[in-house]
Amino acid sequence: MKAVFFDFVGTLITKEGENETHINIVREVLKRAGREDLDYLKLWEEYEEESSALFNELAGKPYVKIRDVDTEAMRKVAERHGFSVPEDFWRISLEMHALHGRLFPDAVDTIRALKALGLHVGIITDSDKDYIETHLRALGIYDLFDSITTSEEAGYFKPHPGPFLLALEKAGVKPEEAIYVGDNPAKDCVGARNVGMLSVLLDPKGEKRELWGKCDFVVSKLSEVIDIVKGLMEK
Ligand code: CA
Repeated sequence: MKAVFFDFVGTLITKEGENETHINIVREVLKRAGREDLDYLKLWEEYEEESSALFNELAGKPYVKIRDVDTEAMRKVAERHGFSVPEDFWRISLEMHALHGRLFPDAVDTIRALKALGLHVGIITDSDKDYIETHLRALGIYDLFDSITTSEEAGYFKPHPGPFLLALEKAGVKPEEAIYVGDNPAKDCVGARNVGMLSVLLDPKGEKRELWGKCDFVVSKLSEVIDIVKGLMEK
């Protein structure tokens, strides 16, 4: 075992923090549009629905900038309610992510422990480069990672092999020397396994039990990854 790669949203940062971020994006958009009369929680739900529908269609496909997908999702909601999306929507989005993103409490300690074992620690994420970099810098963890690989660079969304193979190349390790930690069985576990990497599913509440079979390991806390990796290193 020589390298550990992490997914970002839902794995290093919490889904709760991401929801709060998106709610604040909607509030900010409504403020700019002068439409604070609208129910921001209802519009947030609509935004999430539009955005998941668009992203579900894109799994495994050639990369489209997240900024364009998110803007399109917001545009659909705005059109339905008769206002327009501010031109600096992506800037608002980056700013809100930087303000409201929240790391899992054991994320930093886990990364440091893995690095102390001499491992390459990287990120493989379905995102635009400016998004992940802004976010990591705001969280103060940009320098913790040996490599950051985005689907934007690889040209394809997970579970396509592209992002995984590019990350392995950057780290200079073979697939069987690497493990991927993510929260989405269909994208993260399947994608990693397709290229010959081991996969760990982070499932804090045990909500994805019916899909555990797609993953090699399942954990409820990030820190459990340390023992899994130590066990693999002893083999
Ligand atoms: Ca994720």
